Amino acid sequence: MHIVNIATEIAPYAKVGGLGDVIQGLSAALVKKKHKVTVILPFYEKILKKYKLPLKKESSFILSEGDLNHKNDVYILEKWGVKIVFIDPIHPKKYFKKNLIYDKDNDIKRFLYLSKAALKYLLTKNEKIDIVNIHDWHTSIVPLLYKNIYKKRGLEIKKIVLTIHNLSYQGKCLKKDLKNIFLQEIKNIKTSHVNLLKLGITHSDAIVAVSPTYAKDITTKKYGCNLEKTLQKQRKKLFGILNGIDTNIWTPQKDPFIPCHFEKKLLLNKIVLAKEKNKNKLRELLNIPLDNKPLVSCITRLVPQKSPPLIKAAILRTIKNKGQFILLGSSNIKKIMDDFKNLKNKLKKNKNAVLNFEYNDKLSHLIYAASDFIIVPSIFEPCGLTQMIAMRYGSIPIVRKTGGLADTVFDVDDESKPTSHRNGFLFETPTLIELYSTLDRAFDYWHKNSKKTLVKKIMQIDFSWTRSAQRYINLYKSLI
Ligand code: ADP
Repeated sequence: MHIVNIATEIAPYAKVGGLGDVIQGLSAALVKKKHKVTVILPFYEKILKKYKLPLKKESSFILSEGDLNHKNDVYILEKWGVKIVFIDPIHPKKYFKKNLIYDKDNDIKRFLYLSKAALKYLLTKNEKIDIVNIHDWHTSIVPLLYKNIYKKRGLEIKKIVLTIHNLSYQGKCLKKDLKNIFLQEIKNIKTSHVNLLKLGITHSDAIVAVSPTYAKDITTKKYGCNLEKTLQKQRKKLFGILNGIDTNIWTPQKDPFIPCHFEKKLLLNKIVLAKEKNKNKLRELLNIPLDNKPLVSCITRLVPQKSPPLIKAAILRTIKNKGQFILLGSSNIKKIMDDFKNLKNKLKKNKNAVLNFEYNDKLSHLIYAASDFIIVPSIFEPCGLTQMIAMRYGSIPIVRKTGGLADTVFDVDDESKPTSHRNGFLFETPTLIELYSTLDRAFDYWHKNSKKTLVKKIMQIDFSWTRSAQRYINLYKSLI
C-alpha cells in the first residue's frame, strides 16, 4: 500500500508531544512491513535548521488562496525509508517561519493552508494513494477538501483515516475563516461556526483513537468534549489502536544520552546497578543528594489534562515520604507556570526536589533511565507514551486509570488481573487521597522489595510499533 500521513509534527525534528513520536514511529514501522510511506508536513524553517538535514529541493507548485496565487517549494528528506515532504509556502503571512510549531490564533489559517497544500502536492505528483491518514483537527479538513475539490481534479485516494490523538483540541472557527482564506469552493458547510475535528470525524472513512479505552471514553459525556454524540453516530467506523514507541530511539541498550547502558536480557541485579549509576549521574547533574532514596519523576507538558494540582501534590508527598522528585515540564499557560514557579521558590532550600521548566529531550532520556518511578496522574490520557517509555527503561509507572494508561498499566495489587500482567501502580479517581495512597504503596514497594523484581519484568513488555502498525495495516486493508 501507499500510505500518506499529513501531520503537524514528526519526531525528532519537529516535535511538541506524543503526536510527533507517533508520526515517526508509525511511519517507520509501516515501511518495515514493506509499505510505501510519505509524510507531509510544513517546512518549519527555523526549527529544522538546527538539524542541518540533508534536504533536497524536489519541486514547486502554486496554490491559490482566493484571488492570490502562492508559490510553494517542496523539500524532501529520506529517513527510515520514509519520504518526508516539507512544504514551504512563499506566503506574505510567513505561516511557518517563526521558531515554533504551534502559533495559537494563527493555527487555523496555517493548518488549513497545509491541508490544502498537501492535497495539491499529491495532485501534482499524480501518484495513486491507498490511504491518507490525517491527524487531529489540524488536517481534519482534508476529507472534505478531497471530496469537494481534489477528487474532481483527478487525485486518487482510496480511503481517508483520521487518527484522534487528543479530542480536546478541535480547531473551532467561523465558516468565514474558511471562506475568506481559500476554501470558498466548499458548499456543504451549513453552520456559521465550524468545528474542524467534527468535519474530519464525519467525513473520513475510519477513525482511530489512540487506545482502545480512549476509543470508548470519547463516546461518553465525561470524555467526549461535546463531540460524544457525533462519535456515537460514527461508532461503526471508530477503532482503538494503542500507540507504540520507537524502540530505536527509546533503547536503554544504546541510548546516546545515558552514561550506563543496560538491557532487558541482563540479570536483574545488573539492570538495577546500571540504573543506579544513571541515577547518580543524573543527581550529580541536577545537584540532588546521592542518598539511598527512591526517585520519582514526571516528564510532561504542564497543561490541565496532565493535572498540575496532582503533580504538585505528588512532589510534596514524595518529599514527605523522604523520596526525591524531578519534574521536567514545560507550559505556555502562564497561570500554571506561575503556580509551579511559586512552588519551586518555596522548595528552593530542598535539594530533593528539582523542578525544571523546559522541553529537554536529552535530559528526558536520562530521567527515564535513572528514575525508580515515573508518575502520570492525568485527568484524561488518549494513549500516553511516557508510561511506556518509562517501562522500557525499567522505571515503574504510577498512573491514573484513564485512556491508554488503563490499557498499559495494571496495578501490582489488583487480584482480578493475572500476576503476569501486573506492572505498576494505578489509581482510579483523580483525588489527593487516591494519589497519596498510591504513592505510599509505591514507596512501600520500593522499601520492601530490595531486589526490585518489577524493574526487569516491565522491561520485557513489547510496546514497539511493530504490533501497533500491524493493527493499522489490518484496518487500512479492511477499508480498501
Ligand atoms: P502528550 O502527547 O499529551 O504530550 P504523551 O505521553 O503521549 O503526552 O507524549 C509525551 C512525549 O513528549 C514523550 O515522548 C515525553 O518524553 C515527551 N515530553 C513531554 N514533556 C517533555 C519535556 N518537558 N521535555 C522533554 N520531553 C518531554
